[in-house]
Amino acid sequence: MSIAAARKPAEFEAELQRYLFERSEEGRAVRVGEKEVSEQAAIVARYTGLFTRDQLDALRGEEDRATGDQRELLYRLRKTCEAGIIAAELAEREDALENALLSARVEWQGEQLPLRSAQAKLAVLTDYAEREQLGELQALRSAEFNDERLDLLRTGEELEADVTGEPDPVARIEDEKQISLRELERALADASGRATEAWERLRATWFERLLGPDRDEQPTSAHVAWMRRLSPLESTYTKERSVEVCMDTLRRLGFDLESDPNIRLDLEDRPQKSPRACVIASDPPKVVHLITRAQGGLHDYQAFLHEAGHALHYAGVDPALPYTFRKISRDHALTEIYSYIVEAISRVPEWHDHYFGAPENAEAPTFLEALLFRRYTAKLQFELGFWSDFPNGPAGDDYARRLTEATDIRYRADAYLSDMDAGFYSADYLRAWIRSAQLRTYLEREIGDDWWCNPKTGDHLRALWREGTKPSSEEIAARLGFEPLDTGPLIAELGG
Ligand SMILES: [Zn+2]
Repeated sequence: MSIAAARKPAEFEAELQRYLFERSEEGRAVRVGEKEVSEQAAIVARYTGLFTRDQLDALRGEEDRATGDQRELLYRLRKTCEAGIIAAELAEREDALENALLSARVEWQGEQLPLRSAQAKLAVLTDYAEREQLGELQALRSAEFNDERLDLLRTGEELEADVTGEPDPVARIEDEKQISLRELERALADASGRATEAWERLRATWFERLLGPDRDEQPTSAHVAWMRRLSPLESTYTKERSVEVCMDTLRRLGFDLESDPNIRLDLEDRPQKSPRACVIASDPPKVVHLITRAQGGLHDYQAFLHEAGHALHYAGVDPALPYTFRKISRDHALTEIYSYIVEAISRVPEWHDHYFGAPENAEAPTFLEALLFRRYTAKLQFELGFWSDFPNGPAGDDYARRLTEATDIRYRADAYLSDMDAGFYSADYLRAWIRSAQLRTYLEREIGDDWWCNPKTGDHLRALWREGTKPSSEEIAARLGFEPLDTGPLIAELGG
C-alpha cells in the first residue's frame, strides 16, 4: 500500500471520531449491564484501515509541515494512530492475560472466589484477620501472572520504541507530557517531606479508628480498600441522600446537572452494573455519560463529585473546537484538575456542617487524600527507576520499600507489576494534585472562603472548560498565576 492510500488528516479525524464513539458506547453498554458480551473486536475489525504504518507516515509528514495549533492537532492525531497500531499488535495477548485473570480463583471459606471478587470483598470484610488472610491469598494468586505481565511490558516497550523512533521510555513520556518527570519527582518528594508531620498525626488517628487497637504496627496493603470506605462514617453519609446532596452542591455552584442536555445520567442500581463510578465522554460536548452506583458511605459522595467534575468539563467544551481539541489530550493531567477541584468540596468542613451537621468529619477525606498522595509519589519514584533502566533496573523490592516507607502500610514486592499504570499515569494524577490545590487557592483569593458554594466558582470553571482538552496542565498554572511546580497550596491542603 502506498502513502497515497492513507487518509488526509481531516478524513482521519472524522473517522476516528466515529470509531471512538462506537468503542465508547460499546464499553458503556457492557459496563452498565445493558449487554452481557463485549464486541469491541468487531468494531476494531471494521476500522483496521485507521491504524497503519502508512497512515502514521502520512500524518507525520503533515505534522512536519504544519505550525501552531494545527501542528499540535496533528501531533495528537499521530500519537493516537501510534497507540492504535501498538494496541492492535498487543490486543490478542492482552485479552489472553485479561481472560486468564478473569478465570483465576482463590479458595476462600469453602468457596471458589474469582480474583476480582476477592479484591472487591477486601473492601467490605469487617474482620481484620480475615482481610489479612484473603489479602494474602489474592496477592499470591495474582502474582502467578507476573511472568506474563513482565513479558507483555517487554514486548510493548519494544513496539513503542519501534513505532515512535524513541528508544528511551522516560524521554518518550517526557516528550508527550512536555514536562521533566525528574523535576516533578523532586518537587513532590519535597512536598511529601514537608507534610510528613501532618501525615503522622492523621495516620495515628485514622489507623486507630479504621483498623482498631489490635492492628499491626504496620498493617498490610490488604486493608487499603477497607480504609477507603471510611466505614465509621457510613451511618451519616447514607446511600439514599448521596444523589440529592451532590446535585444540590453542584446547583450552588451554578450547575444544573439534571437538565444539562449534554450529560446523560445513569444513577440506577442494577445488579450487573459495575460499582465504580465513571464518565464516558463518547462525543464531547454533546454525548457525555455520567455513571454511578451508590453503595453507601462518604465514598459515594466523593466519587459522584469527582465524576461530575469530569462530566461538566467535557459537556462544557466549546462545540466550535475541532474534534481533536474536544476529545483527545496528550495525557490525563488536565481533566483530573477539574474532577479533583469538585471532589475537594468533600474536604471542606462547612460542607459537612451544612449537609450533615458534622464539620469534624472533613478530616477523614483529608486523611485519605494524604495517604493517596504519598502512595502515588512513591509510585512515581519507583516507576522512574524501573523505566530508566528497563528491564534491568529496580523491581519489586524497590517498589515495596518505597511505598511502605511513604505510607506506613506494608506493600508486597510481588505486587509491583499488577500495580503499574501505563504511560506514567501516576505523574498525571500528581500534576492534577498540585494544580487543583493551586486552583483552590486561586478561587479562595478571587471569591473567598465560600468558593465551594458560590456560583462565581462555576463561572471561573466554565471559562476553563470551554477550552476543551487543548491546554496543558502547566498552561493552566500560568492562567492561575502559579509556577507549574509550586506545591505551596498542596502542602497547605495536606496540613503541612
Ligand atoms: Zn478522574
